[in-house]
Amino acid sequence: MKCSICGTDADSVDTAIEEGWTPYFFDGQVEQGPACADCSGKYLVGSGGEMQVRPKFRSMVCRREAKHIFEDLVFNQN
Ligand SMILES: [Zn+2]
Repeated sequence: MKCSICGTDADSVDTAIEEGWTPYFFDGQVEQGPACADCSGKYLVGSGGEMQVRPKFRSMVCRREAKHIFEDLVFNQN
């Protein structure tokens, strides 16, 4: 799994969760993700229960289309 911002790799979903990755976030209206812990801290800000790219970085940081695998694993476990 790769960070959609910097492209760093996580060994597994479990590792990513432990490291504090953000499973998905919004770049304006576009859903993106995941983001590693470093990028989450630098580029994302929480608003209304969802993570958004900080306004000054919007449309600049994401390198790929959204990947939903991580989101599905995290949120569909129950
Ligand atoms: Zn990153």
